Order: sequence, then structure tokens, then C-alpha cells
Amino acid sequence: MDVSGQRLKGTGVSAGVVIGKALLIGSPTPTVQEIHLDEDEVEQEVERFQEALRMSRGQIEALRRRVHDVLGRDSASIFDSHLLLVDDPTVVGQVVEGIRKQRRNAEYVFESVIRHYREALKQVDDSYIRDRLVDIQDVAGRIICNLHGHKVADLSHLTEPCIVVAQDLSPSDTAGIDRQHVRAFITAIGSRTSHTAIMARAMGIPAVVGLSEHIQAIADDQTLIVDGSRGEVVINPTPEQLRVYERRTREQADWLARVQVDASLPAETLDGFHVRMAGNIELPDEVESLRLMQGIGIGLFRTEFLFIRSDGLCDEEEHFHTYRQVAEAIYPCSVIFRTLDIGGDKFLSHLKMPVELNPFLGMRAIRFCLHRMDIFRVQLRAILRASAFGKVRILFPMISTLEEMQQALAVLADVKEELTAQGIDYNPHLDVGIMVEVPAAAMLADKLAPHVDFISLGTNDLVQYSLAVDRSNPDISYLYQPTHPAIIRMIQHVVQAVYTHGKWIGICGEMAAEPLYAPLILGLGIHELSMAPVAIPEVKRVVRHIRMHEAEALVDQAVTCGTAEEVTTLCRNFLRKNYPEALPAEDP
Ligand code: PEP
Ligand code: MG
Repeated sequence: MDVSGQRLKGTGVSAGVVIGKALLIGSPTPTVQEIHLDEDEVEQEVERFQEALRMSRGQIEALRRRVHDVLGRDSASIFDSHLLLVDDPTVVGQVVEGIRKQRRNAEYVFESVIRHYREALKQVDDSYIRDRLVDIQDVAGRIICNLHGHKVADLSHLTEPCIVVAQDLSPSDTAGIDRQHVRAFITAIGSRTSHTAIMARAMGIPAVVGLSEHIQAIADDQTLIVDGSRGEVVINPTPEQLRVYERRTREQADWLARVQVDASLPAETLDGFHVRMAGNIELPDEVESLRLMQGIGIGLFRTEFLFIRSDGLCDEEEHFHTYRQVAEAIYPCSVIFRTLDIGGDKFLSHLKMPVELNPFLGMRAIRFCLHRMDIFRVQLRAILRASAFGKVRILFPMISTLEEMQQALAVLADVKEELTAQGIDYNPHLDVGIMVEVPAAAMLADKLAPHVDFISLGTNDLVQYSLAVDRSNPDISYLYQPTHPAIIRMIQHVVQAVYTHGKWIGICGEMAAEPLYAPLILGLGIHELSMAPVAIPEVKRVVRHIRMHEAEALVDQAVTCGTAEEVTTLCRNFLRKNYPEALPAEDP
């Protein structure tokens, strides 16, 4: 079927227009066929198998080096277990013997040996052993691809620019990614607030997610246009489509250049209100891009990436080293370290997590940490130790009850005492906050606020949990409405409760990165906005065109609306009147 010029519609999650060649990753492992060998072909087949092992070993080692450079030794250790599997003498011995005795092709024998192990492991009543199945699957798929001469995607070592096309990308895929050559990602699943999307924005790589099964129309090496602002992908564009998109790329570059010129101007409304514009980051080397975008600190440091190690444990020294490095790099500004928020779409296949029917409603974030005190205490020790080297704050995610928050605070107090007893330096007065991202916490903000120094609004989850809509499911993304009047009213309630208790509040959900919503957020009384560094200049430009009393009037109107569309229209009209350049151009 000729798909030239076909336009696919997904969710644009990281802005930018890119034209490039498709690189399919994670495509199904090739089907293995049984081939009978002649006597004189057997040794050649054994050598072919050994060559596939050598290739696999080389690819895994390269991946390990790359992750080591970006994330450190511990995160890279995930690949040690993969190397052990490639070199497993029992498996290798059985395959070589099988090729010789059965006179069958290497992939056929290899697959039957692996199948045997897989079945045996499935019976073992130990979740750690069963978790190794994921590694076996991964390594076996790589070896079979290499035997078939199939390209195994190694996103850490690319030689040519490409657009990565995948079902989804795991944290280890994105952690090792070669940022120089990956020009865009497009995925079948995901939404604006899914983890892949957040990573794409963090790395400043244009991305479209949630393309569902339409992604199957794309073949390797096809030319694609990816428009991360509009959520569009064009396969094999026609000359006319190329002209339109090349023009858009130029316009976008001009707009960004203009915006960046103003990046050093103060983040202040027309009537002189100062707004703190901070950055959301996940990797220490993103501090540099935050500095370039003139962020005034780190409003959210997601720590999940430090847990990508094969045993899922937390190495205090490695964590301390990273937190200290970040705290020193951002000084004299502050950094808010959020404790581990694992679960939901932030999966780490190596952490022993229970299999759940509803992961977003399950053992996630603070619940997991209070359950795995060994991991939690070590992370708190490392953050506290880093607080002696900069302005460090701690944030607990996904609090849903008062008791849960009190438990987390009690663990923190206990860890502080332990450090004091050991004579280890830390800042005993560091600020502690909670994320309000569960509706129950929002409604209970007046009871929670007195116990902490600040509240951070996690609208990604607040919208998901309030509207009962999975943030990563593209089929229901039309229901994912940050401007739903229920959300605006809930935020208003939280802000009032926080100010009544003399505490401060910031917003770190993706809502903060959307220029359209900036007037609404300021009008609600939130003066700290934390977002992906690349989003800062544009949002700042909008802030500089707002008058506070007008923004407050916008909120007064928004809370009387019945639908998200009405609120969005109010926001659009506000920008049309005050700063029309910030509105995306209409489709041609
Ligand atoms: C949020 O929920 O808004 C948030 C910032 O946290 P995350 O996206 O990491 O769940
Ligand atoms: Mg969240």
C-alpha cells in the first residue's frame, strides 16, 4: 500500500518540527524457522552462533558505557546481568551441543533451550527469580535478531540522524539515548504526561506519542515529518508538504530565537509581580540547559532514574554524590528532590514490584517507599547529607492521607537523628513539602499544610485521578482536561488553604509549561512555576504580558464555567487580547 503523504495524528508532547528517516525499534523478534543442516554445515553454524554472541556482547557493553557516562556506575549495572546471560556457559554449551547433535540451525536450537529455561523459571515461587525473565527475554531477542542479521536498536550509539519509532520507550532506552543523533521520538502509546513525553521535553527532542496502531504504517528508513507541536507525523511527504513544514521549521526557529533573546529579562507581570520560574529535571547534566534558559532553581528533581540498577536498591554513596553535585551546580538557587515515585507508568522492570491490576492506584510513590523502608531511608540519608552542600528541599509524592504524610515525616525525623548520632553533617532546617496530586489531598490541604513548609501541585496526576482518566492512554486523551472547571476549583481550594497557613505553593505538573494556562495559574495565586527548561522562555514571555488583576478576573470567570472547553476558550481569548503571538498559528 502506498502511504506517501499519509498524515498520522497523535499527541504532540515536545515541540519542534523535524524531518528525518525512521528507525524502528522494539519491533517483534523475527520468527524462528527450523532448518536441517548438512554434516559439513554444522561447524559453520556453531561459528555463526558464536559470532551472534560476540555482537550481542559488544552491543550490551556499548550500552553499559553510555548509561555509565550519563547516569553513573550503579545505573549501568543493569547491563551486567545481561552480559552474564550472554556468557552463560550452560546455555551456550547446550546450544552448541544441540546444533551438533540435532543438526539444526542456531536460532532454532537457541530458542528451544531458552524456552525450556523460561518455562522452568515461571514455576519458581520467588518473585526475584521470575523477574529475571524480563532480562532473559531481552537478551534472547537481541541474540536472535543478531543471528537473523536484523538491526538491533542501540539508541546509545547511532551514526546517523534518525527519528525513533517505537511502541513505547523504557527509562533505560531513554537514559542511554544518543541525543546528538535522535532527532525525534514517536510512539504508539503515551500521552502528554507519560514518562516518555516528560523525557522528550527534558531532552528538548520533538515527540509525538499515542499514535496507536497507526504507527504500523511506518517502515524503517522512510522519510518522516514529525511535528511535535501539532502532534502530527507525515509518512513519505509530498514536495508540497515538505515545503509547508520547512517553512514552519524556519518560523519556529525565528520565534525561539526571539524568545531566547528575552530569556534574561525578569519574570515579572506588567504590574510588577515577580514569578519564580524553575525547572523540572531528571538528570544532573540538565542543570546546564536550565541555566541557559535562566531558570531560578530546580522545582522538581525526579529521582527515579537513579534507581535503574539491576537489584533496584539504592546505593547511598551514589545517590549522595549525585544530589550533592546537583545542589552545588544549582547553588545559590535551590533544588527540590522528590523521593522515589515509582509505579504507574514509571516502571523499572528491575525493581521487585508486585503485578497489579491498576498500577496507578496501587503500590506507587510514597506507598512503595513506606513499604520498602530500606530503600526510603537510604534515599533520605543521601538527600539530607547533600543538604550540607547547597539549598536542598525534600518533596514527598502522592500523599493521600494525613497519616501517610505523618509517617513519612516521622521516618525523616528518625533518619535525621541517626545522622546526628553519627556526627554526619546536614541541614536540620531544610524545607519539606508534599505533592498535592491526589484529590483527597487537595480537599484536605488545610489539614496537611500546617505540617509542611510548602506544597507542590502535581497536576499531571491530579487531573488523572480527579477525572478518572489514565494519563498514558491515548484513546481517552480527549477526557484528560487540565482546564476542567473541577480542576480549577480544586486548585483554588488548595491555594487558599496553603496561604491561610502561611505556607508557599508551586506547580510542577505539565500545566505549568503550557503558555496558554499561564494567566490562569498566576490568577489562581501561584507564583512558582516549575517546568521543563525548554518551556521557560515562552512561558516567561506570556508572564511578561499579564496584568495580575486581569488574570484574577480570568479565574473568577473560569470557576463559573461548566466545561473545560469554555475555560480553554477564556484562556485563548485572554492571550488573543494580551499577547496574540503566543497562540499557535492556525492550520493552513
Ligand atoms: C505530576 O503528577 O504532576 C508530577 C509533576 O509528577 P509526575 O509527572 O512525575 O507524576
Ligand atoms: Mg505525579
